[in-house]
Amino acid sequence: MPELPEVETVRRSLERLIAGQSIAEVHVREPRLRKPLACDFVEALTGRTVQQVGRRGKYLNLRLDNGLIWLIHLGMTGQLIVGDPHEPLRKHDHIVMTLGDKRSLRYNDTRRFGLMAVDDEAAIEALMGLGVEPLTRAFSARYLWDKMHQTQRAIKDVIMDQRVVAGVGNIYASELLFRAKVQPGRVAGTLDHAAVARIVKATKAVLQEAITHRGSSISDYLDGEGQPGSFQSRFRVYDQVGKPCRSCTTPIVREMHGGRGSFFCPVCQA
Ligand SMILES: [Zn+2]
Repeated sequence: MPELPEVETVRRSLERLIAGQSIAEVHVREPRLRKPLACDFVEALTGRTVQQVGRRGKYLNLRLDNGLIWLIHLGMTGQLIVGDPHEPLRKHDHIVMTLGDKRSLRYNDTRRFGLMAVDDEAAIEALMGLGVEPLTRAFSARYLWDKMHQTQRAIKDVIMDQRVVAGVGNIYASELLFRAKVQPGRVAGTLDHAAVARIVKATKAVLQEAITHRGSSISDYLDGEGQPGSFQSRFRVYDQVGKPCRSCTTPIVREMHGGRGSFFCPVCQA
């Protein structure tokens, strides 16, 4: 599933490719995404101009010239790709648009867990229901300490809770906890100030580094030009079971927490 670095990479490519473009035509081939597209979806976008491509957590927020926001969540397998309108349609191209300059913008989503809506800013904020952005100053050790000490949940569940901090999923939670030297299953309320400060610092560093490498391409993720990311080659623990830890050579292990696999080094993250 695309997390913050992948969505930010898509945002940057779309900002370059479609900001300032009008949407001449919208053709919906399959309206059944995570929720069915609204009846007025085509009408809400046709003839509008995309002024700005923003991001909040794992959501893309495209500001339209009438002040409304076009919200897009890529779900598990969503791809938004700008290209040549004469290219043959692919099997899961569910929404096909023609831009003012005649290029096409296609939304492809094999598993259809994506989400799209057009609404005003307040309605979109309520729909997303997100906590702070991890790459802003609002995500501080003081902020996270308060959230951690209100709960008996595992630290990894807190860091992946979108209402606490927006945009971190299983991959980057695993990677940042390795760097912070904290075991994923540990109860959040038992962490000391130094550990919380390391988690905040590691979160910012891992996300920033992943954005620099244009995200991680594990299965379906591609940016707006159809290009994959490369951060997957830099994983220290995620999907590295049995491989030696890069710091201490102990084999990386995987444990199940809340239905998801958590990867960690049992020595460095003791
Ligand atoms: Zn280790």
